[in-house]
Amino acid sequence: MEFPKGIRKDILKRSKSTFSVSQLPFQAKLDQNESCFELPENIKAFLTEELNKLEWRRYPQANLYRKAKQALSEYLNISPDEVIITSGGDQVIQGVFIITNPKTLIFEPTYPMYRLFALHSKKKTKIEILSPEYEIDTDFFNEYFDLVNIVTPNNPTGNIQKNSVINSALKKAGAVLIDEAYHEFSGITYIDLIRKFNNLFITRTFSKTFSISGLRIGYGISVKENIRILENIMFSPYNVNILSLLICINIQKLLPHIRKVNKFIQKEKEKFYSQFDKLKINYLKSCGNFISFSCDSKLYKYLIEKGVRVRNLSPIPGMNGYLRVSIGAAEENNLFINELHKYLHK
Ligand code: PMP
Repeated sequence: MEFPKGIRKDILKRSKSTFSVSQLPFQAKLDQNESCFELPENIKAFLTEELNKLEWRRYPQANLYRKAKQALSEYLNISPDEVIITSGGDQVIQGVFIITNPKTLIFEPTYPMYRLFALHSKKKTKIEILSPEYEIDTDFFNEYFDLVNIVTPNNPTGNIQKNSVINSALKKAGAVLIDEAYHEFSGITYIDLIRKFNNLFITRTFSKTFSISGLRIGYGISVKENIRILENIMFSPYNVNILSLLICINIQKLLPHIRKVNKFIQKEKEKFYSQFDKLKINYLKSCGNFISFSCDSKLYKYLIEKGVRVRNLSPIPGMNGYLRVSIGAAEENNLFINELHKYLHK
């Protein structure tokens, strides 16, 4: 089909090479780094009840948004002015890409949305490749960038970057976005650095330990002047729905759940490592809720046929021949491990 003349050519070109998430049926869904457990039924019931007390026909109101920021900021130990609530952590990335000047640095391999959002916002993007250990070389910062993007723990490599790398980026770049989507698993955060650097932005998500990928909740952290700009361009609170705000207001109720998820993930991750060792499969030790491993090209198809959905990382620069498996519920993990054994002992 001829596309209308009004559509951007660069977007059309990208849409042809899009890699999509599998739609096939599954028994184990281990392809999107989601949480291994649902929120407990009593918490879901409580939130639904609270939601039913609100007027759905109204747009999200400023007082509800303020309450949500208050509760979230208490959890984070920062001021309510230093946080923006968004529809998923991705929206923070998009926002930071919109408000910053064009010259942008992205490291590969990483979360593919960075390239995509750079394209959307017509950035002048430089892509640097991480070292064989997936570390950032601070020499990259000798060149000035308006925006440097650092994902730590990185997806899909699972490693963290050194404090010296983060500090060097903050000293040299116009703005630095640190993606802490997986920070609950690593226990590492750079929030305190907003006191020292007004060019620091942090993005986080409720999609992992909080188990709410489907509701799309994320948040951004920075000094209050930057948060005000982000809220302005996103027209906060119209970018988030009232259920998301209710969840932030009740964040304390979710904390026992996230501790449970975390404990389980750490335990299961060790099980995966020992199985990979046993099977002599090369894998990347991970500070997230996923593990990337290298394998022969037919394994992906085999697993999909067996109803085990994992992520094929081959389209990501530097990850050819790798698959990524999320740590799921025990039955899902066992199915994956059993199928891996069967495939290798065929
Ligand atoms: N950053 C990274 C590195 C991620 O892996 C993800 C989710 N896969 C996100 C950000 C965004 O998460 P969400 O939009 O679901 O909040």
